[in-house]
Amino acid sequence: TNRVIRRALVSVYDKAGIEILAQAFVEAGTQVVSTGATAKVLKACGVHVTPVEEVTGFPESLSGRVKTLDPHIHAGILADMTDPNQARELTDLAIEPFDLVVVNLYPFADTVRSGANEPSIVEKIDIGGPSMIRGAAKNSASVAVVCDSADYALTAERIKDGTGFSLEERRWLASKAFATTAAYDAAIAQWTKTRWVRPESIQTVNPLNGDDRASEQSNEDEVTFPRHLTHTWERLSVLRYGENPHQKAALYADTFEPDAFAHAEQLGGKQMSYNNYVDADAAWRAVWDFAPQIAVSVCKHNNPCGLAIGQTVAQAHLKAHACDSKSAYGGVIATNATVSLEMAQNIRPIFTEVIVAPDYEPDALELLKAHKKNLRILRVSEPPTGRLQLRQIDGGVLMQSLDRVDAAGDDVANWRLVAGSPADERTMQDLAFAWRAVRCVKSNAVLLANDGATVGIGMGQVNRVDSCHLAIERANTLVDGMDRATGSVAASDAFFPFADGAEALIEAGVKAIVQPGGSIRDTEVIEAAQRYGVTMYLTGERHFCH
Ligand code: 5GP
Repeated sequence: TNRVIRRALVSVYDKAGIEILAQAFVEAGTQVVSTGATAKVLKACGVHVTPVEEVTGFPESLSGRVKTLDPHIHAGILADMTDPNQARELTDLAIEPFDLVVVNLYPFADTVRSGANEPSIVEKIDIGGPSMIRGAAKNSASVAVVCDSADYALTAERIKDGTGFSLEERRWLASKAFATTAAYDAAIAQWTKTRWVRPESIQTVNPLNGDDRASEQSNEDEVTFPRHLTHTWERLSVLRYGENPHQKAALYADTFEPDAFAHAEQLGGKQMSYNNYVDADAAWRAVWDFAPQIAVSVCKHNNPCGLAIGQTVAQAHLKAHACDSKSAYGGVIATNATVSLEMAQNIRPIFTEVIVAPDYEPDALELLKAHKKNLRILRVSEPPTGRLQLRQIDGGVLMQSLDRVDAAGDDVANWRLVAGSPADERTMQDLAFAWRAVRCVKSNAVLLANDGATVGIGMGQVNRVDSCHLAIERANTLVDGMDRATGSVAASDAFFPFADGAEALIEAGVKAIVQPGGSIRDTEVIEAAQRYGVTMYLTGERHFCH
C-alpha cells in the first residue's frame, strides 16, 4: 500500500522548516512543482523546481488569486492511480500525477487579529491552498498530504528511504488535513457572521438554514443546538488526565469561536490540565461580569476565593488576593485588563497555577516567564462569547442559556428598599459589586464586600445559614486581628428561607444586604433587618450557580 514519492507539489505560505524537505527532495531526486515564493526558497536550497506556470501554461495572476487553480494541477492531485482507468485517462491527458502535496494556508486568523482592514483580510482567504489540501486528502488512496510542519521530519524520512507513506499513514494525514481546512473555513465564517449579516432587503428566512436571528425569537429555539455547532467540535488536545488521575480527558473546542477561552493562546508554563480549564474558565467568566471596570478574580475549585475591581489591574489583584490569601495558594488568576509589570511583580511570590488575561505588558510577560516557569500563562483575545451551557446527565444532556448579570433585577435602579435607610453612594456601589460577584459563587452563596472587593465568601453549603457563617468566619479570621465583617455589605444569591442567616450577618456587623426576596418568610427576614436598622434591598432576581 506504500506509494513512493516521485513527484511533489509544494506551496506554503509559512516557509519555516521547509529546508528539511528540500534536502530530502535533493537527496531522493524528487520532481518538485512549486508556486512563486515557495519555489524561490526551494531553489535556494538546491532543489530543481518546476514553476507551477510551466505545468499550467498560465501565469500566476490576479495578485496570486489564481496560481494552482488549474486542471493540470488538480487532475494530477485527484487522479486515483490505483484505478487503472483513471491512470490511463491521466496519461492520455499528458498529465503527471503527484504523490505528495505540501501546503499551508494564508494566515487568515492572524490577519484578523493584527487589526488589518477588510480588503486585506479578504485577500488572506486562501482559495487554491484549501483546494489542493482537500483534493489530496480526498485522494489519500494515491496521495500524501502534509499541512503541518510538525510532519516535515517524518515526510523527509519517507522521501529519502524511498518507501513513501503507507495507506494508513496517508489516511491519517488526510484526516488531519480535513480538520485543518474545516477550522480554516470556520474562522472565515465566524468573521463574516458578525459583519456580513442578513440585510433588511431579505425578509423571509428559511428556518432550516438555522438563521440566528430567527432562532432567537422563541424560548424553545433559544435552547436548540445551533445547527452550525453540532458538527464543529474539534478535539484540540488530549489532556494528561481528567478530574482525577484515573480519568481520561480531552479538550474539545468550538471551531466557530476561534477567539474564545477554549482556544486560549498559551504563552508559558506546563500543559493545561482538566481542572485548570474548569477553574480558569470560571475565573475568566467572573471578571467579565464587571466590564468595563477593571476586575481580577482568584479562583480555586471552580469558586472565587477573591474578587475585586480597582483603579489599576495591580490594585484590583491585591484587593482580590487579600480576601483569602490562604486559599489563593495554587489558585487561578483572571483579569479583564492587560497584566501590568506591577501586577506581575506582586504575583511572583504567590504559587499560582494559571493566569488568564486579554494581554500582558511585554515586561510583565517577560517577568512571569522568567520567574514562574510552571505558571500557565494564557492569552484570550475576546470576552466570553458563550450563550449556552450544557451539562451531562446519565444518557442525556441538559441545556440552558448562560446566566448573565443582565436581567431587570440586576439593575440597581430596579431594586426595592425594604429595610433601613437608602444606601449612600459608596454603600450602593459596594452592594452592586457584591451582587455581581455573588453570581459566580457556587450555591448556597453568601458574599461580604467592602470597597469594591470581597472580604468573605461562603459557598457550596447545603443550607444558607452555614454559608452566612462561613462568609463571616472567613472575613474575621483570615487577616490577623481584623474584623472585616463589620461595616461590610452582603449579597445572597437566593432568598433567605429563614431569618437566621440574615440575623447572623447583621450580628456580625454587616451594614446592608442585597438579596432576591421571594421566600414565604420574607416578612420575618425583612423584620430582622428593620429591627437593627440595617439596609436591605430586594432584587427580585436569583443567581444560583450549582
Ligand atoms: P507562495 O508563497 O509560494 O507564492 O504561495 C504559497 C501560498 O499560496 C500557499 O499558502 C497556498 O495555499 C497559496 N496558493 C496556492 N495556489 C493558490 C491559488 O491558486 N489561489 C490562492 N488564492 N492561493 C493559492
